[in-house]
Amino acid sequence: LSKRTETFTDSVIRRMTRIANACGAINLSQGFPDFDPPEALTKRLSEVALTGPHQYAITFGAQNFREALSDKQFHFSGLRYDPQKEMVITCGSTEAMMASMMSVCNPGDKVVLFSPFYENYSADTILCGATPVYVPLSPVDLSFDANVLESAMAQPGVKALVLCNPANPSGKVFTHEELSIIASLAVKYDLYVITDEVYEHIVFAPHRHTYIAMLPGMFERTIECSSLSKTYSITGWRLGYVLAAEPVMERIKKVHDFLTVGAAAPLMEAAVTALRFDDSYYTGLQAHYTHMKDVFTNGLRNLGLRFTEPQGAYFVLVDISEFGYEGDEQFCIDMAQKVGVAAVPGSSFFREPVDHLVRLHFAKKDETLYEALNRLENLK
Ligand code: GLN
Repeated sequence: LSKRTETFTDSVIRRMTRIANACGAINLSQGFPDFDPPEALTKRLSEVALTGPHQYAITFGAQNFREALSDKQFHFSGLRYDPQKEMVITCGSTEAMMASMMSVCNPGDKVVLFSPFYENYSADTILCGATPVYVPLSPVDLSFDANVLESAMAQPGVKALVLCNPANPSGKVFTHEELSIIASLAVKYDLYVITDEVYEHIVFAPHRHTYIAMLPGMFERTIECSSLSKTYSITGWRLGYVLAAEPVMERIKKVHDFLTVGAAAPLMEAAVTALRFDDSYYTGLQAHYTHMKDVFTNGLRNLGLRFTEPQGAYFVLVDISEFGYEGDEQFCIDMAQKVGVAAVPGSSFFREPVDHLVRLHFAKKDETLYEALNRLENLK
């Protein structure tokens, strides 16, 4: 069997979902909503069930979907991606990230990751035959040291940096100033920035999302991965995409073509409805997520727990030092089985030896959040 597949484990996030299901715990581990997608979207899906399409769409994504996505992206970033030449629709941003990395890395190359990081990035890097180089975010304020970042990006063989913004699992939203530092280093060392911007519309005031592709010199070297999963509460539809300039997009399209042939045609057809929603949808989404964040973080505060205050995305890292556990994995298993709430061990997101944090997410109905908070009282 391949050496590559020896050096990483299966996803701990998704393993925790299986554990949560097996013991009937409230699943605050793998991040996905327990509320319905917008009604206009599910209604459209039921129509599409009768009318089709039910056969393959164009490999690179249905034409009407790509046009709607181009308009939406122009609306939010002012960047107009050509639906024919500068985008590909993928099976989730998971495929988007993998296809992007495979398109820029040769075996032996390196990829810079901030730590903590979403666990897929390290596995994707290894699957490309490349090696991750980690840059730690400060445990105090999630800032990075520009000199440390520069020495990582300057290493021979580095091809790209992965930027998850807003960040999973830290909830960090990178400021314009931080993005400018990253951008100028990417230009200086001639690197790609592969982004994961799936939480682009889940940002808490006064923080604001900036697309790094908008910064000077960055359109050509940004490979933007994102998806509809979080924005429209449809994680199971597996609709993601890559936006990038034509030369690199040509390569990404080839990888996509042979990896998956294409995203699900009926789901793309239905999702055009969502891509055409007006601003009020996104304002409502922000308000809804701000409400869920407030319910959950106020509840954690009342329980006397210490945690990271999210600026964006829908995760908190909770400090479990006070519980005197040997490791965060056993803590999470016990918490799922005895308290009835599933979390992800923080160690699966860090390069550094960190075992005093667990990740919980709050994309849940009020009743689920209140019940989880009630159960968490039994931690003490
Ligand atoms: N991004 C979500 C999380 O970190 C879901 C990840 C996944 O399993 N695709 O939990």
